[in-house]
Amino acid sequence: MHAVSDENTRLVDLVLDYSRRRILASDTPLDKPIPELELGRLAGTSVHEYGIGAARALSLFEHVLAPACITTDHPQYLSFIPTAPTKAAIAFDLVVSASAVYGGSWLEGAGAVHAENEVLAWLANEFGLPTTAGGVFVQGGTLGNLSALVAAREHARHVQHASGTDAPARWKVVCSAEAHSSIASAARVMDVEVVPVAPGADGMLRGDAVRAALDEHGASVFAVVATAGSTNFGIVDDLASIAALKQEFDFWLHVDGAYGLAAMLSPLARARFAGVEHADSVIVDPHKWLFAPFDACALIYRDPETGRRAHTQHAEYLDTLTETSEWSPSDYAAHLTRRARGLPLWFSLATYGGAAYRDAISSSIQLAADIAHEIESRDGLRLVRDPQLSVVVFERDGWSKAEYDAWSARLLDEQRAFVTPSSHAGRPNTRFAIVNPTTTFDQLVGILDTM
Ligand SMILES: *Cc1c(COP(=O)(O)O)cnc(C)c1O
Repeated sequence: MHAVSDENTRLVDLVLDYSRRRILASDTPLDKPIPELELGRLAGTSVHEYGIGAARALSLFEHVLAPACITTDHPQYLSFIPTAPTKAAIAFDLVVSASAVYGGSWLEGAGAVHAENEVLAWLANEFGLPTTAGGVFVQGGTLGNLSALVAAREHARHVQHASGTDAPARWKVVCSAEAHSSIASAARVMDVEVVPVAPGADGMLRGDAVRAALDEHGASVFAVVATAGSTNFGIVDDLASIAALKQEFDFWLHVDGAYGLAAMLSPLARARFAGVEHADSVIVDPHKWLFAPFDACALIYRDPETGRRAHTQHAEYLDTLTETSEWSPSDYAAHLTRRARGLPLWFSLATYGGAAYRDAISSSIQLAADIAHEIESRDGLRLVRDPQLSVVVFERDGWSKAEYDAWSARLLDEQRAFVTPSSHAGRPNTRFAIVNPTTTFDQLVGILDTM
């Protein structure tokens, strides 16, 4: 027994020592994927009938596997939506695992659920939602959107049933043609129809366009999804004019703020989100712009009871949980067992305070505005749209898709930056998505110089 416990001590020391180095390092290379065959050759086989031991397995991770993963919190990772977790949030993520907390029920995880709920209440208050709003941290925005839309349809069914009218042949969800792909994905899972509505030339979906869709599709529309910070451009739909339609039509307003809603914490962007306070549900991903590690999406319902009615799982072995009025996070989304994934954000927010978050978000918004200005001033470069938040989309005059591809591959090869090609309306372009407070203007200028 002693030998085993010594071995465990060594193992834990080894892993914590590696974690400590990685968390505190400021020079972790960008790294890059390598082809499967080559990786297979380098990694060999590590899973056998008898283990290879922690030291060898960790060494394999450190020297072969980790370098084949792009460092998503690198300041020059500017593709997709990056991540930039605080030291507090990353370190505390280890504590969440170490504590073996079950985050699904109040019975088992009351302390963790209490802390997560404090964060959800803080966010709800920032978004102007009533103090009775609440929800749950789920794995990601895709699951958050799906869970919100399932609750929305359940609510519509309930209303339709109570009014004694016939169910529509097909339930429909209205959203911008530029809404995130996860809305279409949710619609496929739910077997409902998406009604895409064209946004304005500036990318913003507005109430008048939504009204036309509501007029046309009538009571079969169970939800309207507005995007608060599109993934491609960081454009915020005109939430106020869309929310105003609730006075004329009966629909659930879901605000997909997976990336952008975090910007409401910044005085530089807060006004863009006017109207979000009328939402029936919202999501925001802490793993995007709230400096938490993967993976976490805050899903908040205006009336949490609607989420609970749609999602509570019933089973004999669960009766002891579901027959109480206690707040069990499992009840508010399409999941059961869950990691208390809101705790890293809780610890970080508690440690640093909200003001540090506002400052960090503001710095990325300001940097996006500065680099947009620089792009405009350069011959041969052109903004595709003016940035609203921290995504800057631009074109190099005359470049084909192949030229963007080659340039992007070269940047990664040289370990200079991770900036992928994108496109809009059939034209290739590229974009900087900035959420990392350690990204600098000079780094971005250095990338422009390579074009
Ligand atoms: C990223 C994103 C999603 C999906 O979130 P995941 O956490 O990647 O599942 C949904 N909507 C928007 C607007 C996003 O930016």
